[in-house]
Amino acid sequence: MKKGFEFKIEILGVPYTVICDEKKLAEACEEAGLEVEDTQGLHVAHDLESRKIYISPLLSPTQWVQTFLHEVLHAIGNITGHLILSQSRSKAEAFVDAVATGFTTVLKNHRVRQIIDLILKGGDEDEKSTDDS
Ligand SMILES: [Zn+2]
Repeated sequence: MKKGFEFKIEILGVPYTVICDEKKLAEACEEAGLEVEDTQGLHVAHDLESRKIYISPLLSPTQWVQTFLHEVLHAIGNITGHLILSQSRSKAEAFVDAVATGFTTVLKNHRVRQIIDLILKGGDEDEKSTDDS
């Protein structure tokens, strides 16, 4: 069993804990009535005070990123009410998978990640002016 880890993120200003842990994913699957063997990731938002994204630590690096983005898309759907992102019907899942897989192929490019990082470090002019004051 791989050692688990977790970290906090905000999605559209909503706090989430991302949990990459085999045992905790298994427990969350049991609670959701899912087979852990068929589950790479899980978005849990029924407790609005502690929203969680679970990801299996047994995935390949590419699968991990794809699953992370997939669950983030579910979170965005849950927060914004866009049902195509939040429902777990097969048509919605296929859409979410296509977007997550597409972004994963783009983000696998190291230069793309470098440029995004560089541009974000530049910050918004608005943020800069408050930082400098
Ligand atoms: Zn899904």
